[in-house]
Order: sequence, then C-alpha cells, then structure tokens
Amino acid sequence: MDNAASTPLNKAVINEMLPFIKNDYGNPSSVHEKGRKVKLAIQNSRKRVARLIGANSSEIFFTSGGTESNNLALKGFCEYLRETNEQRKQIIISTIEHDTILETSTFLKKYGFDIKFLDVDSHGIVEPSCFKNLLNEKTGLVSIMLANNEVGTIQPISELSKITHDFDKNIFFHTDAVQGAGKIPIDVRDLDVDSLSISSHKIYGPKGVGALYIKKSRKIHPLIHGGGQESSMRSGTENVYGIVGFGKAAEISLKNLKKNFDYLRSSRDYLIKKILSNIPGTSLNGSYEARLPNNVNITFLGVNGEELIVKLDEHGIEASTGSACSTNKQKSSHVLKAMGLDYEEISGSIRFSLGIQNTKEELDKTVEILSLVIADLRDRSPFKIKYQ
Ligand code: PLP
Repeated sequence: MDNAASTPLNKAVINEMLPFIKNDYGNPSSVHEKGRKVKLAIQNSRKRVARLIGANSSEIFFTSGGTESNNLALKGFCEYLRETNEQRKQIIISTIEHDTILETSTFLKKYGFDIKFLDVDSHGIVEPSCFKNLLNEKTGLVSIMLANNEVGTIQPISELSKITHDFDKNIFFHTDAVQGAGKIPIDVRDLDVDSLSISSHKIYGPKGVGALYIKKSRKIHPLIHGGGQESSMRSGTENVYGIVGFGKAAEISLKNLKKNFDYLRSSRDYLIKKILSNIPGTSLNGSYEARLPNNVNITFLGVNGEELIVKLDEHGIEASTGSACSTNKQKSSHVLKAMGLDYEEISGSIRFSLGIQNTKEELDKTVEILSLVIADLRDRSPFKIKYQ
C-alpha cells in the first residue's frame, strides 16, 4: 500500500521490454537496421506518452525520471533567462512541493534567483487569490505541483496558469505531475502549462525513466550536453528498454484511466471510512474532494508514525510516513506542517497509497492489523490517553 513510492511492473510492459533486453540492442543513433529498429520503438513510445497528457510527440523529452524532469524544467528555464539577460529573477513555488522542486529552487538562489512561497490552506490547497498577489514584474517562473505526493491534494492548475499568463504571457509555468499522471485525466492544453513532469515507475512502468513535456513555443536550455539526443534537450544514448516500457505503461494507463480511477476511488473511500469508524483518535489529512483517487493520509493520535510503519511492515503491510524520496533525510513532513498540523499530529500521520493490484481483502486485513497495532502502541505509551 505504498504505490505513491513505486508500483509493480505491468506484465504487458515487461513483455514489451523483453525483445529490447534480449535481442534488439542497437543504438538509436546508428543508421543501420538495428539502430533504426530501436529508434522507431522510441518514437512510438514518445507518441504514447504524448497521448497520455494530450501533447504533441515533438513536445516530449525523455529523462531519467521525475527528479531529472523537474531539474531540467527549473534549471533549464532559469539558464534561458540568464542567457537572454532577462532580469525576471523571482520564482514562485508552493510550500508543499516535492523535494525535487524545493531543493532545485534553493540551488537556484546561488544564481541570484529569489524564491517566493505560496501557502496552502488547512486542506492542502493553494488559494488562487493569494497567488495573484505574489505575481509581479520580477516573476520569471512558477512551479506548482498538480497533485501532492503526501496528502494527494489536486491543485487548480488551469486557474493558476490562466492568472499567470493573463498577468504576463512570458512567465513560465511548470507543474510536477508525477503523482497525478495515469490517475487523473491530464490535458496540457487545458492546463495551459509550459512544462510538465512525469515518471514511469509511478504508472506501472520501469524505474529510471520519465519525461518532460515542454510546450512547443517555449525555450529552455539543456542540462546535459553531448551527442544531441532528444533533439539536443538531453544528450546521452537513450535508455531504450526503459523508454519502451514507459511508453507501454503510458498507453495502458490511458486506456484504463476511467476504470482504474473508479476502482481506486472506491477502494480509497472504503479504507478511509473503515479506519475512521473503527479506530478512535483518527482523522483524514488533506481535502476529500480535490484528492487523488488512491491517497489515504491519516493521523493516528498518540502513536509515532515511524514506529507504526515498522509494526505494519512486520505484518506484511507497506505504508509510508510521506515521501519515500526524502526518508533518508529523516525530517518531519513539511506538507503537514504547511497545512497547520501540530507536532503530535504530524508525528502520528502515515500515508497509504493504493494501487490497482490491491484487493478488498487487503484493505480489510489492513484495518484489522491497524486496530491491533494502534491499541498496542497506545497501551505502551507512558501517557495512556483514551481516544474516543
Ligand atoms: N515529484 C513527485 C511529486 C514525486 O512524488 C516524486 C517521487 O516520489 C518525484 C517527483 C521524483 O520522481 P522520480 O522517482 O521518478 O525521480
């Protein structure tokens, strides 16, 4: 139940990748038949990924994943601003962005960029009218995530990008759609974003591959220079089987979008209802309405989330305290903090993120084990508070 961290490879994805692992080892830059064969496969994947987000295939650039895509969008656009001597050095990001955006923005401060933070409300949603107040003639770049990885909140991106482009059409609007892609419908034209990041391993594809959509009319600078692959946006011999698997995963995600959405949402609602009604001292974090169909983030008062994760793991249930990508840093959730939760609430919060492979039996088992583990942890606490 930790599918926001990663998902299992779909069988059809493995089958699509196998010929490229076993036999078709050509370099897509070679002119001979072996090279042309893999080049064609990459072009096909590009079309499939483009279709998932309503883009043109020439606007899709393959990367090593969501982290690189976010780095490329932010650093690449700031480098463009620098080279063209643009004085617009203000970057606006939300307080609940993934570390890939937070850390990249912090890095850009070294080059004279100034970061302005857009707050979220207690439900984890940004307020468009507050956003409008942050825009000024110095704003060069805006980066607001489509869906949050910890609490699953979905931001009003098309409204925010409209405000941005009405204010000044030259401001570059990026969105991190790593958690939203393949789970909710995405159309880059409707969202009116200038760039958008996606990652393969969150949609039942292989790890180490992702893409950045860049709107045709916009310019950004590459971060990796060399042989000119990916239309010179990202040099280096392509991760062919990764890209082939990603393309297939994108195709399947689009085909099953509605079916998977309905299944995940009903599983999510079942799990939320069952936890809240069976275990006292619990509450749901994040908006219920504007929420990814697979995200369940719950506060269990009187327990330590890290301890709870370990106990659940002993029973074969995998959950998370938030972002798998930042657990090495052992810091408490900046997302829950931004939403106004206090220390006790934050430390007692964990995330279940459902996948299409999770069954109703697994959900029932989770609540059964959770009830026992929570009662035990609370019993062993020196405070012995009774929760109603
Ligand atoms: N952005 C968000 C919102 C994420 O949740 C993640 C990974 O969890 C990333 C970016 C990084 O993606 P990747 O693991 O493909 O580098």
